[in-house]
Amino acid sequence: MERIYNFSAGPAVLPREVLEQARDELVNWQGCGMSVMEMSHRGKEFMGIAAQAESDLRELMGIPANYKVLFLQGGASSQFAMVPMNLLRGKKGADYLNTGEWSKKAIKECKKYGAVNVVASSEDRNFSYAPTQEQWQLDKDAAYVHYTPNETIGGVEIFWTPQTGGVPLVADMSSTILSRPMDVTEYGLIYAGAQKNIGPAGLTIVIVREDLIGETLPGTPTMFDYKIHADAESMYNTPPTYGIYIAGLVFKWLKARGGLAAMEQTNVAKAGLLYDYLDATDFYASPVARENRSRMNVPFTLSAPALDEEFLKGAKARGLLQLKGHRSVGGMRASIYNAMPIEGVQALLGYMKEFEKRHG
Ligand SMILES: *Cc1c(COP(=O)(O)O)cnc(C)c1O
Repeated sequence: MERIYNFSAGPAVLPREVLEQARDELVNWQGCGMSVMEMSHRGKEFMGIAAQAESDLRELMGIPANYKVLFLQGGASSQFAMVPMNLLRGKKGADYLNTGEWSKKAIKECKKYGAVNVVASSEDRNFSYAPTQEQWQLDKDAAYVHYTPNETIGGVEIFWTPQTGGVPLVADMSSTILSRPMDVTEYGLIYAGAQKNIGPAGLTIVIVREDLIGETLPGTPTMFDYKIHADAESMYNTPPTYGIYIAGLVFKWLKARGGLAAMEQTNVAKAGLLYDYLDATDFYASPVARENRSRMNVPFTLSAPALDEEFLKGAKARGLLQLKGHRSVGGMRASIYNAMPIEGVQALLGYMKEFEKRHG
């Protein structure tokens, strides 16, 4: 069977070129006689792979020298705990914006270690929008301000950078990292699980300003201390070596396509195809406020939910997979990360129109 179009929210589609290169190098990486999976993480081959991946990520995102790039494990979910354990630094608590399911999980975890001040919440309208900066009630004594620039489940994205009056800004960028340029210097810490827009599950990337690390809560496990990983250049223990290798190939792929500014253009075009159509028809609808419509995760509903199953069945028959929406939102969700080609979005759009013609 030919490759299908995979609209999964994560683990998600990877660039075909990356998979093909990984296949070609699987058994014998660049003539060294073994697979990357079999290499010592302290040998010169793998050290080279990791250093190249880091330097390409630094170049893509414009990460300054006073920020550490960490290749960790444990997913974004472990960061929900690692962030307060490392960044509370003697303060009573932290500020959190609540825009959906992932924000809620981050808040719940922080509460185990300190007080949480919810600066604003969009729960009143089922997390279908993001409160504007004027609505945030910041605490000037907060250790940091945490937010989720793209809520993967609700499809709610924030396109502006919050202003925090000097309090370090922390972002869970799991589903928006690398989708557009952003100014890293506005952040104290950025984290992301790899399986949406970076590479395979199992790798978690943390980008953290150097002066924020080194002071953990008493009892913090060694493996949860950013400083330990930073000092050991992510080689304190065995890092997720194959995930780092694939991420490195993805970074090269992004650079070859013109970097993040070029990705943003493509992502605007891809998302625009879907949102323009959702606005033009009464048969489908977008539940998300216009100014917060995610470019990466596009939820949409059918005016007749009784047709959901049939829609999904027909989609599958056309090679359009993983479109079922999250149970908290219902309907459909098309995740269209960097690696989803515009042809995949066009194929989905064609099917949506055809389905409307048949049932509208
Ligand atoms: C997927 C996701 C997570 C959870 O990631 P894991 O790597 O599975 O722990 C957290 N936050 C956001 C925004 C996500 O999209």
